[in-house]
Formats: sequence, structure tokens, C-alpha cells
Amino acid sequence: MMITVHENLPPKGGDKSNLQTVYGKLQSELLEDLKNYNIPTKHNSMRTKQLWNWTFLGGVKEFSEIKNMPKELLNELSKKYTFTRDSITMEQESSDGTIKWLIDLASKNNSTNNQIETVFIPEKNRGTLCISSQIGCTLNCSFCHTGTQKLVRNLTADEIVSQLLIAKDRLDDWHRNNPNNIRKITNVVLMGMGEPLYNFDNVKKALLIMTDCDGLAFSKRRVTLSTSGIVPFIERVGNEIGVSLAVSLHATNDEVRDILVPINKKYPIRELINACENYPRLKNSSKITFEYVMLKDVNDSLTDAKALIKLLRNIPAKINLIPFNPWPGSNYICSDMEQIKKFSAVINNAGLSAPIRKPRGQDILAACGQLKSETLRLRDKK
Ligand code: SF4
Repeated sequence: MMITVHENLPPKGGDKSNLQTVYGKLQSELLEDLKNYNIPTKHNSMRTKQLWNWTFLGGVKEFSEIKNMPKELLNELSKKYTFTRDSITMEQESSDGTIKWLIDLASKNNSTNNQIETVFIPEKNRGTLCISSQIGCTLNCSFCHTGTQKLVRNLTADEIVSQLLIAKDRLDDWHRNNPNNIRKITNVVLMGMGEPLYNFDNVKKALLIMTDCDGLAFSKRRVTLSTSGIVPFIERVGNEIGVSLAVSLHATNDEVRDILVPINKKYPIRELINACENYPRLKNSSKITFEYVMLKDVNDSLTDAKALIKLLRNIPAKINLIPFNPWPGSNYICSDMEQIKKFSAVINNAGLSAPIRKPRGQDILAACGQLKSETLRLRDKK
């Protein structure tokens, strides 16, 4: 396999600490704020839309790129707002087209450990961007590499949106360069570092910005929030954000799930399944995706497959079978492909969809969090 490490990264962005990012605001917040500027009231809504369009359709990085707004107003706005993105410190491209970015965020607590990963996975008819919601994670899922990294902090809404803008910049995926609107990034998944529901308010705001019809306009069906099962928030995801839901299930009984996903001790399988059965969006005929990592002799027996069918019998569900991606120090090995196929067939025969996820980006430290750990290790060695 060939791996490319790109050197021609954009220059480190300016300091945005004293300014607010335009892309970290809801359209309604910008509208409210623009009332403080010298704009005739009847033009307020139009000016907000223009600013919003240049930000999310044009991908501008400077106020000087905006053509149809008064210069004095742009000058005033530039004293408070910026389009600066967070900085990429590394970009790796796999031979299969998968691209991983290591992104440096501002230090908010004097920590030097402020990096997150964002990954683009191109497929035949779609391109998926996997974004992070926290630096590190508190949940210690035993099969997950990010679980070995301590939580540093929650991402702000603008840091979550910034990952999408950075990817669009690097892929040249802006509407203004592509009037036919053939997008490279068609789907967004919150499956990167962190538990999104432990950062609910910022995640909610970021997803509402991404799905706003006047801007990035991602369909809510094409945005997926993945949770390890923080039960009290699941209904709120459906009611307040309305995106697709994915659940990291990985086991069919509490004994095994307590080890793989320790938050299960607080929110056991039955409670989680009840919350999924009541997920508000299911009324709109959408499905919940259940992620199931295949671990040899841990959760991959055909008895487990049958238990899974029984567990999910009342939920419109799709089960993603994920061959385990080993990382240094992990205690598990991936199930044999023969066994994964048999497991999938049992579920398929029961009328449920259980595709086997194709491993992607294997040559670029593909396990979530692995590139960050390796970079920190090399830095500490210096
Ligand atoms: S699987 Fe998700 S919730 Fe669990 S440790 Fe990894 S990043 Fe955190």
C-alpha cells in the first residue's frame, strides 16, 4: 500500500481567539447581531443571507472576497468576526483515497494536547466525512484507540463546523467552484474522537448550522450522530436535531458490553434498546444503524447473531459489521472473515441488513485516534 503525507498544507490560520467565527453562529444569531450595525432594518435579513451564503456556499476566508455587500459594513464586521479555520498539522492520503487530517485546535486550558482527527472516506457514489466532537474521550471503550486518550475538552460548535470547512477547502468542494453542485462530501458522521452526547449543546448547534438549507444544506438523513448509548439524550437528538442515529452496540448482553463499552454499566442494553425503540425519527421511516465490531471469540458467535436479531426485532435497524482494526496494545483480534460472513448471513436471513464494512485507509493508522497518538509519541521522543 502507498501512503502520501502531504507537505503543501495551508499556512497556519491567524489567531481567532479574539474574534468570533462567522461559521460558528446560527443564522438566527447572525441576524440578531447584524441589528447592531448600521443597516436599514429592511435589509437586515438580506445582509445576513448574503454573509451566510458567502460563508457556506462560497467558502470565503476573507471579508475582502465578498462582492455584494457594502465595504464599510464588511470593514466593521471584520473587527468582530473571522473566517479563519483551525490549522492542519498533518495530512495523510491512503492508496484507497481515504484522507486523514490531524487538526490543531486552540489551547483553552494551557494543554499542549489539542489535536483531533478528521477523516474523508470516498466511495463510488458518495463521500463521507468523519468528524470529532471532543479532544480525547472519557468512555474507555476497551476496543477503541481513542478510549486510551484522556479527555482534554469538548469542542466548541465552530471547531466542529471548522472540520467540515477544512475538508471542503482541501477537496475544493465549494459550490462556487462547482455550480452543478456535485458534492465530494455528501455525508457527515460524528464517529470521530469523543462521545457527541457528552457535548450535546455544541454538537446540536454545529449540526443545525451544517443542515441549514440556506448554507451547507446537508440533508438530515445524510448526517449521522453516533453514540455509545447515553440514553437520556437520545430522544433529544431526534426532537432537537433530527439527524440519523447510530449506536455503538458491539454486544448482545450486559456481561460482554460492560467490558467493551463500560458506559453500559450506567445505561444497560435494555434501557438503550427502549430509547432506540422510541427514537422520534423512526416515525419518518428512517433506520437506526447499530455498529458491531467483530472481535474473535468475544462477540462473534452465531448465538450472538441470533441474540442480535431478537434484541432489535422492534426497531427498523441496519447493522454495520466492522472488522476490528487492531492497534498497538489492544487486547483483541479481529474475527476470521469466514466467521464474519456467517454472522452476516444469519442476520440477513432474518430480513435485517448486516453489511460488512470494508476496511478503509489501512495504511494511514486507520484506528480512530491512532495518528494523534503516534504524532504525540514522536513529539515526546524529540
Ligand atoms: S468508541 Fe467512541 S465513546 Fe467509546 S472510547 Fe472510542 S471515541 Fe469514546
